[in-house]
Amino acid sequence: MGVPFIDLKAQYERIQEDVNAGIQGVLEHGKYIMGPEIAEFEAKLAQFCGAKHAITCSNGTDALSLGLMAYDIGPGDAVFTTPFTFFATAEVIALAGATPVFVDIDPKTFNIDPDQLAKEVSRVNKEGKLKARGIIPVNLFGLAPDFDAIDAVAEEHDLFVLEDTAQGFGGLYKGRVSGSLGDISSTSFFPAKPLGCYGDGGAVFTSDDDLAAKMRSIRVHGQGSDKYDNVRIGLNARFDTMQAAIMLPKLAIFPQEIALRQEVASRYTNALSEIVETPFVPASYQSVWAQYSVLSDRRNEMQEALKKEGIPSVVYYRIPCHLSKAFDYLGYGEGDMPESERASKRIFSLPMHPYVEPEFADRVAQILSSI
Ligand SMILES: *Cc1c(COP(=O)(O)O)cnc(C)c1O
Repeated sequence: MGVPFIDLKAQYERIQEDVNAGIQGVLEHGKYIMGPEIAEFEAKLAQFCGAKHAITCSNGTDALSLGLMAYDIGPGDAVFTTPFTFFATAEVIALAGATPVFVDIDPKTFNIDPDQLAKEVSRVNKEGKLKARGIIPVNLFGLAPDFDAIDAVAEEHDLFVLEDTAQGFGGLYKGRVSGSLGDISSTSFFPAKPLGCYGDGGAVFTSDDDLAAKMRSIRVHGQGSDKYDNVRIGLNARFDTMQAAIMLPKLAIFPQEIALRQEVASRYTNALSEIVETPFVPASYQSVWAQYSVLSDRRNEMQEALKKEGIPSVVYYRIPCHLSKAFDYLGYGEGDMPESERASKRIFSLPMHPYVEPEFADRVAQILSSI
């Protein structure tokens, strides 16, 4: 029998009673939309990451859109982001009618390179065709990018920072918790994320009262005093009460699970560092290890060998966003983002979740060392 890439069942077995009781509670009170569990979960989320406001929503993609809509992003605006991310990060910029401007990654962390960011912002400003408005840094694989350096660029050019922490919520950056690192932060509760629900879900965070009020309004059709008083164009982007009930026991064990993920990652790094390039975590950062991703010139053979032994591995991301067909119209080509392209050809991710067996890393090492 093969092992799972992400073991949601092991977690469910641990919290089964509380999850089932939570669902039962919602079935009994029947407030399926914006029931009391939503407010309870939002308060606990805000407390967890240190942001003043947590606003749950339908998914991590809509969370990003809520953030962009709060800044009235639209045609003529440039929003800077990394091409080495899940498509949604760049997609929402285009969906808002604005132009994604890609900035290559630091090959050590796979996150946006602040030096190149500064150059790209200056280039766009000098060119004068687009108005530079904001930055969407992504906490790829669970690790925060260099926010001090990103914030310095943002401050110099009067840009907002929208932290896409769909993979990194709960990670640490110099003592601060991810979810509070941007002017607005967004996350996803897709089941496979480090903090996932049993369906689609997401949240946005901010400590700015006006932005929070605006995102709460946009979440429900741009509501004013109520849903039938519409003061702006919005979305239907609420989180389900049932999912909030499921998330309460999941959030309660999340700190423990983050600690377990550190152990899994350390065991991988100890076992694999002579065989592949293992992940780099800068001092005073803590990843939540959404993925444990390694690099090798012999990726295909390694993935084949693992597969033969029933061990799944996945490539995130085979096509960097600037080369995806959907963004042909932006005019990027092969060679424009050399570090992202190099990583996309050499990277693969190993099974990662809090309940990976202690002996598993050695088994992977044994298989890969034969290549
Ligand atoms: C998963 C993910 C999203 C989108 O989240 P959904 O809940 O699937 O919409 C956005 N950005 C990144 C970096 C992600 O990994």
